[in-house]
Amino acid sequence: MSGGKLLEAIASEILACRQCELWRTRRNAVPGEGSPDSRIMFVGEAPGYREDIEGKPFVGSAGEFLETLLPTANLSRENVFIGNILKCRPPRNREPRSVEIETCTPYLDKQIQIIKPEVIATLGRYATGYIFSKNGLRFDGIAKARGKPFEAVILKMPVLIFPTFHPAAALYSGEYRRLLRRDFKQLKRLIDKRLNG
Ligand code: URA
Repeated sequence: MSGGKLLEAIASEILACRQCELWRTRRNAVPGEGSPDSRIMFVGEAPGYREDIEGKPFVGSAGEFLETLLPTANLSRENVFIGNILKCRPPRNREPRSVEIETCTPYLDKQIQIIKPEVIATLGRYATGYIFSKNGLRFDGIAKARGKPFEAVILKMPVLIFPTFHPAAALYSGEYRRLLRRDFKQLKRLIDKRLNG
């Protein structure tokens, strides 16, 4: 089966998923979107209000800010895959619970195995903590990890992990906006070196 068909099959599973309680309050599950051939993958936390309505990742205000950042790294939504740790919105956007992360992340793992990205940019502490745990990397908080590349092996595949803040953090803080822009410039340099060098 092609990568596209495999991603579609997982998306169908996610849309029908009732493995944790979040299905009861979701309007739509949000499997993630992007090309199966993407060399870069972004991983966020969980769908919010707009994502739950539209069934698409990062289409609310955090997504709008993410879209302003992507060109800084010479990227656009069309040439990356954007997914989340949780595929369903937690009620009132509360933080993900450990049991939800454990139940849901096998979907993300399968997406990673199909896409085989060369770079995974993790947005915020939940995404970074989870992806670090796949490689046995110690996670001491997003403020320490952000803006640095980590060579890792995830699901038996070599990958560069690049953590940064969650774009929602930037909505109310000029300092976070500045640091996110700086991190995306750094991401561009890393991509140029690793993928185009
Ligand atoms: N925040 C996330 O982490 N993911 C989304 O898809 C939207 C907002």
